[in-house]
Amino acid sequence: MNIRSLFNRLFPHACLLCGASAGTRPLCHGCQADLPWHIAPQCPQCALPTPGGQVCGACLKRPPAFDRTRAALAYAFPLDRVIPRLKYQGRLAIAPALGACLVEVVASSPRPDRLIAMPLHAQRIRERGFNHATEIARVVATQLGLPLDTASCQRIRDTPPQMGLRHDERRRNVRGAFACSGDVRGQRIALIDDVMTTGTSLDELAKTLKQAGAAVVETWVVARTLPPGDIA
Ligand SMILES: [Zn+2]
Ligand SMILES: [Zn+2]
Repeated sequence: MNIRSLFNRLFPHACLLCGASAGTRPLCHGCQADLPWHIAPQCPQCALPTPGGQVCGACLKRPPAFDRTRAALAYAFPLDRVIPRLKYQGRLAIAPALGACLVEVVASSPRPDRLIAMPLHAQRIRERGFNHATEIARVVATQLGLPLDTASCQRIRDTPPQMGLRHDERRRNVRGAFACSGDVRGQRIALIDDVMTTGTSLDELAKTLKQAGAAVVETWVVARTLPPGDIA
C-alpha cells in the first residue's frame, strides 16, 4: 500500500459537491453519476453534437489543427460553478475530481506519447500561483501512467481573456500566442485543458505543435461548451 492509499483509508474524502463520504474518490457515486456526461453522438474532431456522430460542418469547412477531441462532460451545472472555483479561487482540491472525470473517458483512447497542458503565460502563473490545466493533467498522467511534458510549450503572449469575444476576434486574439521549444517530431500528443468553448486556443496550440513536427495532436478536455438545447 502506498502512502496515498493509506492516507485515503485513514481520512476518507468528503464529496466535493455534497459533502457525503466518498471513500477514496473526490466525488461520491451519486454526484459522479449525476454529472452532465457528454455522451451524445458528436463530431470526432471537435466534440460538438452531430447526427450519427458525423464530422460537423465547421470542421468540414475549416478543419482544426487537432485531429480528435475527447470531452468528458458538458460545460453546464455543476461544472460552471466548480471550474471557476479551481481557476480563480485556487481550490486545488477540485483538480483531482476533474482529472478523474477525464480519465473515465480517455482511458480507452489510443495512448499518446505524452500529455501537454494548455500553457498559461508566466505572468498569470505568478498571479495565480499555479496552472489549473497542469493540475488536471497531473492527475491524468498519474492515473494513466503517461508522461506529462511541462517544458516544451510556452504561452509567449499574454492574451486578453477570450470570454465575450466573437469567433474571428478569438482567432486573432490567440494568433502566435504559443511557442514550442521542445523536440516533438513524430510525437502523438494529447493536449489537456479544462474547457473547450470554440477551441481556438487549442487549435492554435495544436497548429504550433504540428508546425514543430508533432504527428498527431488530440485534445482531451474536462468539459465542452455545447449549444443551448444540446445539454442533457
Ligand atoms: Zn456527492
Ligand atoms: Zn467538429
